[in-house]
Amino acid sequence: MLVVKKFGGTSVANKERIFNVAKRCVEEYRKGNDVVVVLSAMGKYTDELIDLAQDINPRPPKREMDMLFTIGEQMSVALMAMALNHLDVPAVSLNAFQVSMHTTSAYGNARLKRIDTERIRTELENRKIVVVTGFQGINKFDDYTTLGRGGSDTTAVALAAALRADACEIYTDVDGIYTADPRLVPNARKLKGITYDEMLDLATLGAGVLHNRSVEMAKKYGVPLVVRSSLTNEEGTVVKEDVNVERMLVSGVALDRKADRVAVIGLKDEPGIAFKVFDCLAKKHINVDVILQSIGRDGTKDISFTVDDGDLEDTVAALQESRGRLSFDRIESETKIAKLSIVGAGMISNPGVAAKMFESLYNANININMISTSEIRITVLINEADGERAINAVHDAFGLAE
Ligand code: ADP
Ligand code: ASP
Ligand code: MG
Repeated sequence: MLVVKKFGGTSVANKERIFNVAKRCVEEYRKGNDVVVVLSAMGKYTDELIDLAQDINPRPPKREMDMLFTIGEQMSVALMAMALNHLDVPAVSLNAFQVSMHTTSAYGNARLKRIDTERIRTELENRKIVVVTGFQGINKFDDYTTLGRGGSDTTAVALAAALRADACEIYTDVDGIYTADPRLVPNARKLKGITYDEMLDLATLGAGVLHNRSVEMAKKYGVPLVVRSSLTNEEGTVVKEDVNVERMLVSGVALDRKADRVAVIGLKDEPGIAFKVFDCLAKKHINVDVILQSIGRDGTKDISFTVDDGDLEDTVAALQESRGRLSFDRIESETKIAKLSIVGAGMISNPGVAAKMFESLYNANININMISTSEIRITVLINEADGERAINAVHDAFGLAE
């Protein structure tokens, strides 16, 4: 059996944790299994690297950021291989170059394209535990790239798919996927299972427990995932195509405090304007979510949408650049907002879910700025200061508590 195990930053934050992980891997190895370990940078090291960079240059080139980021994961894998070696188990650490993890060229937000598995296979055949850097890749210029914050999950799933692993286990600092972030909602309940689609929406809408692209990839290649704690032996949560449990009306609530709102005011009210606005953003690889267009008045209209806070500056710059083609009055942006979403496959066949969500927010005296819905999710934009109160109110209203 071949098992891919991924451990996040808190799971390898210090010597004691590194040995804890090493021992778990040795246990698997001693069962006779092939073990591939994917690691993140230790603790909050990636954040520290960002601070270090910004102290030198407030807008550092993305290529150089990726060059810097890669040392975090490289440090973890080397130390882990040393720990395994200390436990008398043969191990080898590999980075994105040594594995050949090819990505697109977009620094800071690259997508994995192809992984050469030959080196890993050879090392496994020699009965070594293979410890691989998460988060990083290489592009066609032979430069390092990174997959976006939290991207080590995606490295793990991609490796599991490429190696046709029998299991892909994501070890973290909580013991599974909950109905809401247990740090925000203390009475959140652990789920036994969740479908790829629900988890994909939750992850995209702010549930940082899994990188959204890892879920996308797991679905595409049919890799069943298990999310569990690196510190306990609790069972964890399975993410797969169809979970054989009763379809819950709402399976989770997510809060995204990193969303910013942009409004383009005074656009010409004519065909093609929305296309031009979003086309200029797409060309810069900027993801847009909740969109609202006002009804035209006096020959003009406004378009508002949300972007990730890291993309705000680029968004405004891209719109300004296209001003000749677009013609608008002004751009407004708002950073003190949050996106609150409910997700559930059971919503499709149950009317009244939206009303219930809005009622619970009304009862908590929370104002809604924008609304967006799909078959299995409802998202509202609220003031950031209301975020924690709002997620608890909605979570309670749907009876998700333990
Ligand atoms: P790692 O470093 O292991 O990748 P992350 O910090 O990326 O860990 O993800 C784990 C965190 O995700 C938890 O500590 C928890 O606060 C957060 N989280 C957000 N939403 C959820 C959820 N629905 N279920 C469980 N954890 C969640
Ligand atoms: N170290 C990277 C980050 O903090 C990748 C990861 O943890 O998955 O975003
Ligand atoms: Mg993570």
